Amino acid sequence: MAEQKTAADHDVIIIGAGVCGIYMLYRMLQMDMNVTVLETGDGPGGTWYWNRYPGARFDSESYSYGYSFSEELLQEWDWSEHFAAQPETLSYLNYVVDKFDLRDHMQFGCKVSSARFDENLNQWRVQLEDGRELSCQFLLTAIGMLSAATLPNIQGRDDFNGEAYHTYYWPHEEVSFEGKNVAVIGTGATGVQVIAEIAPKVKSLKVFQRRPNWCAPLHNSQISKAEMEEIKTHYDEIFAKCLETPGAFLHGPDRREYASVSEAERLAFWERLYDSPGFEVWLGNFREVFMDPAINREYSEFIANKIRQRVKNPETAEKLIPKDHGFGTRRVPMETRYYEAYNQDNVSLVDLNETPIECITEKGVRTTAAEHEFDMIIYATGFDAITGAFDRIQFTGRDGQTLYDKWEDGPVTYLGIQACGFPNLLALAGPQSGSVSTNFPRGIEDIVNWTTDLIRYMKSEGLSTVEPEADAEAMWTEHVKSMYEGNMVSTTQSWFTGYNSNVPGHDKLRYMVYFGGAPKYREILTENAKEHYQGFEFH
Ligand code: NAP
Repeated sequence: MAEQKTAADHDVIIIGAGVCGIYMLYRMLQMDMNVTVLETGDGPGGTWYWNRYPGARFDSESYSYGYSFSEELLQEWDWSEHFAAQPETLSYLNYVVDKFDLRDHMQFGCKVSSARFDENLNQWRVQLEDGRELSCQFLLTAIGMLSAATLPNIQGRDDFNGEAYHTYYWPHEEVSFEGKNVAVIGTGATGVQVIAEIAPKVKSLKVFQRRPNWCAPLHNSQISKAEMEEIKTHYDEIFAKCLETPGAFLHGPDRREYASVSEAERLAFWERLYDSPGFEVWLGNFREVFMDPAINREYSEFIANKIRQRVKNPETAEKLIPKDHGFGTRRVPMETRYYEAYNQDNVSLVDLNETPIECITEKGVRTTAAEHEFDMIIYATGFDAITGAFDRIQFTGRDGQTLYDKWEDGPVTYLGIQACGFPNLLALAGPQSGSVSTNFPRGIEDIVNWTTDLIRYMKSEGLSTVEPEADAEAMWTEHVKSMYEGNMVSTTQSWFTGYNSNVPGHDKLRYMVYFGGAPKYREILTENAKEHYQGFEFH
């Protein structure tokens, strides 16, 4: 007797209730799909649910970050600052979830441990850590690109008797800094925000820095009621601007040729950039700054002088100026009084290039020079970015192949959305997609909309599986690699290039991000849909 095929419990399972999962759920419910969202946290919000560390805030303009799909929502929500802090963003996402009745379709506190494609049933079988198994036709990952936090591979971490926090897993209860001697390890975008925020509150602060980053002022400010009303009348222009810039931010490159601008004009322009809010100082620059090492050196020196002006102790200032990479070739941390923190008597910098950390002890941090005693250690040591969240779930596709093995030497994908051998597994913010190098909500809208159309198409055509062709996957991966050529980002070690010193094997260049820009990526997706999803195989 022929085996009876069993229907899956769900048409669609979305893993993750962050910015991306929320919007995907909304689109799936509009299509009356049987859908559920599985989320590890006890509430929605993703990045903004977890990262509750002091100082956490946007570096996208708040009004360029909100969802664009509902005019009513845009008109109802008031942002209080040009770059809102984490609690406000989390409230916003909760507001969206409640306004569109999404909460009942979300399951919180459940962690997906593995997912296996059942080739007989053409279904994904999703295992949760609580022992349950769910099944679905389409498995959509909205698991975040910076959600697999990594602690430093330093011996003795568990020996420390004081308080210890990774910024991503910051406690929900208030943490007091009063009278405390605090260490911060890590000076990326997160460390920089934490340091500036807690410096005035702690008894003493020691910053353990391995490689400094080029940081620049955020220039945040309040939004008055009248200004917010004004912003609400301009949303069309705001989103139109985001649509045309490579990063989908309100900031796009200056299209003038560097050489066509006189030195005096250039310096005045750079002064203006430095005084502008947000990423203008990075993304509003001449394009050659990030392509031509000599021009990049000039701009880096301009920024280095700003650091020298802001930090009183010249020795400390020099230590805070990166020497191993040029400005903007790693993600630029935006800051508010970060450099000034080092002018306070209670703040000092430990340069780990001079005195590396030997271990964590019961009392604090031992370097080659001394044992530093602390009440609290804050690990701002970042993430196993983009692929890390995939590696922490065991995805098994056709013929027992795991995604972990497939991507061991670096990700390979078609359009950054699917991998060959993993039918109906669609990554909404996966490696090599456009969404991971953009103003996130703008970037994911493109993929969520494309995925929605794909699922609608398959339903209407009665198709059960979609999977990329091997040639298409190889072609896209080569295309992604080619975008790294001539781009100075590819010469630096950062999460853009797949580097994480704390994860074995992640010390070599991996092609993680699509650098062709959001407009190009959007155009490719639109064309692909128009051409009936070329490069994908349907059954
Ligand atoms: P990150 O940029 O990867 O920085 C991690 C820091 O920890 C680096 O300074 C790194 O030093 C240091 N580190 C790691 N392991 C270490 C070890 N074993 N010993 C000593 N130092 C160690 O991570 P992040 O700061 O969390 O930022 C990640 C990304 O999150 C950002 O680039 C940004 O995209 C996002 N983010 C966004 C916002 C925002 O929107 N406002 C805020 C925060 C973060 P090395 O550089 O030497 O490896």
